[in-house]
Amino acid sequence: MTTPQVSFEFFPPQSLEASFRLWDTVQALAPLDPRFVSVTYGAGGTTRDLTRDAVATLHKSSGLNVAAHLTCVNASKAETLQIARDFADAGVNEIVALRGDPPKGSNGFQPHPEGFANSVELIEALSESGDFTIRVGAYPEKHPEAADMQADIDWLKRKIDAGADEALTQFFFEAEGFLRFRDACAKAGITAPIVPGILPIENWKGVRNFARRCGTTVPTWLEDAFEKATRDDREDLLATAVCTELCSDLLDEGVDTLHFYTLNRPELTRDVCHALGVTPQVRLENVA
Ligand code: FAD
Repeated sequence: MTTPQVSFEFFPPQSLEASFRLWDTVQALAPLDPRFVSVTYGAGGTTRDLTRDAVATLHKSSGLNVAAHLTCVNASKAETLQIARDFADAGVNEIVALRGDPPKGSNGFQPHPEGFANSVELIEALSESGDFTIRVGAYPEKHPEAADMQADIDWLKRKIDAGADEALTQFFFEAEGFLRFRDACAKAGITAPIVPGILPIENWKGVRNFARRCGTTVPTWLEDAFEKATRDDREDLLATAVCTELCSDLLDEGVDTLHFYTLNRPELTRDVCHALGVTPQVRLENVA
C-alpha cells in the first residue's frame, strides 16, 4: 500500500472561538505536509468575506498551499471575478470552482441575473485569466440534480474541458462506488485526477442526515455498527476504523491522493492519516 498524499478542507470561522479552533486544527494537521488546504464558501455565498479573510490569513501565517472555494451563487460575474482577483492578490492561486448551493430554504439554484449560469461558465472565466489552478466537485453516486450517472459524468467532462485541473469528490462510505465512477470517467475520456473526498464520521446522526441530503448511500452495515457503537460509547473508535478501512481499500486499488473533510476538527483525520502512514514531516532545519 502506498502512502497517500493528502489535503484538508476547512470552513471559515464565524466567531473568535471558532477562529482559535480552526488555528488549532491547522497546527495539528500541518505537519502531515498536505498538498493544499482549502476553505469553503458558505451556501448562498454567505461567507464571502470570511472565506476571503480566512484564506488570506492562512496563506500568510501557515506556510501551507491554500485553495479558496468560490461559487456562482448570489453574485454577478463581475463580483465573482473580483473575489477571485482578491484571492490572487492575497497570494492564493488555487480555486475550488463550484456552482454552489442556494441559501437554506430557497428552491434550487437560480442564477443571478448578471451572474454565471453554471459551474462551466465560471471555470471558463477563471481558466481564461490564467491565474489559477482549478479544482471542481464530482459525484461518485450522482449529484441529486443529475438526470442519471452518465449525464453527470458528461457534465464533469465539460467542467474538465473548460479548464479544470482536478476533481474532488463528494464523500461516500464504500470504495466500490468510487472505483466504478473512476472507471466510468476514464471511459468517458476524463484524464484529470479524481481525488476521493473522505468524511471522517465525527457525529453519526449529523453525518447520516447530511448523507441523505447529498444522495450518499448509507449502507445498512454502517447503520448497525454505529447503533451498537453508540450504545457502547465507542463511536470514535468505530469512526477511525471505518474511515481507515475505506481509505486503505482505495489505496489498494491504486488511489494515491485523498481529500479530507475535517469539519475543523483534527483528531479523527490525524488518526486516520497516521494509520495510513502519513506521519509528521519534520524538517531538519526546524530540529536544530
Ligand atoms: P455542477 O457540477 O456544475 O452541477 C451539479 C450537477 O447538476 C452536475 O453534476 C450535473 O449533473 C447537473 N448540472 C448542473 N448544471 C447543468 C447543466 N447546465 N447541464 C447539465 N447538467 C447540469 N457548496 C458551497 O456552497 N460552498 C462550498 O464551498 C462547497 N464546496 C464543495 C466542495 C466539494 C469538493 C464538493 C463536491 C461540493 C461542494 N459544495 C459546496 C457543494 C456544491 O456547491 C453543490 O453540490 C452544488 O449543488 C453543485 O455544485 P457543482 O459545482 O458541483 O455543480
